Formats: sequence, C-alpha cells, structure tokens
Amino acid sequence: MKRRNFIKTSTLAGAGMAFGNFTFPTSKSHILSLSFDDGFKKSFYRIAEIHEHYGLKACLNVIATGHFKSFHTEPKWIPQKLLGDFDDWNALKVRGHEIMPHTWEHLNLTEIPVDKAKENIDKCLAYFETHLEGYSAANAVYNFAYNASTTELEDYALEKVRAVRTGGWLVLKDTLVNPIPVAAIAARLGCWGHGPDFCDDYVEQEVNKFLKSDGGWLILNLHGLDEEGWGPIRSEYLDNLLKRLIKADYLEVLPTGEVLNRVRKK
Ligand SMILES: [Zn+2]
Repeated sequence: MKRRNFIKTSTLAGAGMAFGNFTFPTSKSHILSLSFDDGFKKSFYRIAEIHEHYGLKACLNVIATGHFKSFHTEPKWIPQKLLGDFDDWNALKVRGHEIMPHTWEHLNLTEIPVDKAKENIDKCLAYFETHLEGYSAANAVYNFAYNASTTELEDYALEKVRAVRTGGWLVLKDTLVNPIPVAAIAARLGCWGHGPDFCDDYVEQEVNKFLKSDGGWLILNLHGLDEEGWGPIRSEYLDNLLKRLIKADYLEVLPTGEVLNRVRKK
C-alpha cells in the first residue's frame, strides 16, 4: 500500500503523535530538503524569492571565505566574483531562510592531512559564530564540500554541530532517504546530487520516485540557478517544481536544520 493512502486512512496521522518513546515531528510521511551549496549571490537571492513565493524557507549553505578576493578553489564551478558575503547571508537569514556552514575554503577534506581538515572545520565554524547573526552551533548542519567525509571527520564535526551532511553513498545503507528524525540525536545526513550539467531532469526523476515511495527524508544537493555553479537548476523549473510540491498533502519541503530542530523542541 502506498504511503499516501496509508496517511489518509490511518489514525497515526495526527500531528506530533506519541508512539512508544518517540514523538513524530510531523504528520507528513515525506520530507524533501533542497540543499543549495556554495553561496552564489544572484542565485541565492532568487532561490530565496522563489521559496518565499510558496511560503517556504530555503536551505542555503555557504563557504566561509567565499567573499574573500583570495578565494580561488574551483574557479570553473565556483568563480569568486559570483559569490555573496555575510551581509547577504545575514539579510537572507533575517528573511527566515536557513544559512549553514558548507566549508572554510572548499577543499576535499578526505584528501588533505587530517589535522588540516579538522582545522578547516574549526575555522569555518568559528567564522560563522562571529559573522552570522543568530548562528548557533548546537543547531547547525555542517555540509561537507564535495559531500566527501570520513567517519573520523564526521565525528569531529559532530562534537561541535548538530548534524553533518555528506554523500548519501557514505552514510545511507541501501536507501536514498534518511529516516525522519524521531529523537534529538546527532545526525549524519546523506544527500544526492547531479552535475556538472543542468540537473532539472535528475531532480524531476528523483522527486517523482520519492513521491511514489513509502516516504522518509530525501535531501538533494543543488548549487546555483541557471548558468551558475556545478549542476545548476533552471530557475523556471525550480519555481514550477515548488508550485507542484506544495500541493502534495503528505509532503513538506524544509531546510535540513529545521527538520532537526523540530525534534529538539519536543
Ligand atoms: Zn560546494
């Protein structure tokens, strides 16, 4: 039986229903997070605007040093001149969007000495502490660059933040989805993405597959809109996608930190 039917006919569908020792954070069976990385100024304002149009909050992850003129990692996919700064991120946060740490300087932390990798995590988180208003490490999701991590680096970050987001292939077993959290535990969130070309078709396919499934929490990792970033999504497509998704009564579109915070607040 498809989850959709289950939700409509089951008495378990009440919001915040207690079940054993757990409290379900949502009455919905499906949660989707569209987790945008890197911090393209033009794209991120537009992503926020599109989400706002449908009463949604965007999930935006930015590079701590992206606004420094010296930032030079991945010039083809993350050209420095396209990146915003913390005035932009604070402005978007005030509008209700989620701004989370992505990386210090966008290195693949599995390819550098582990001490330097840990130092990069520390520098990134320290920068967020001092430059992002209302930032709280206890509520933060650290989003590994390239979705590349090791268990040691995940553990290290989890000493400081609420959750880490990394490759779904690293932390999810035989499934594409994360469990919808039912307890306030530190989390290793797995995500999926597609590039370097436009990812509209990929997103459409994955979302449709997800909507027909029994549910869970799907996190898709995206970057910029239109011509910006690795594996961009067309703004028109994003608009159309959200317009359709808000009509699904068994689905919520939420930023990752908010999904976790719902459990904390119980
Ligand atoms: Zn990135």
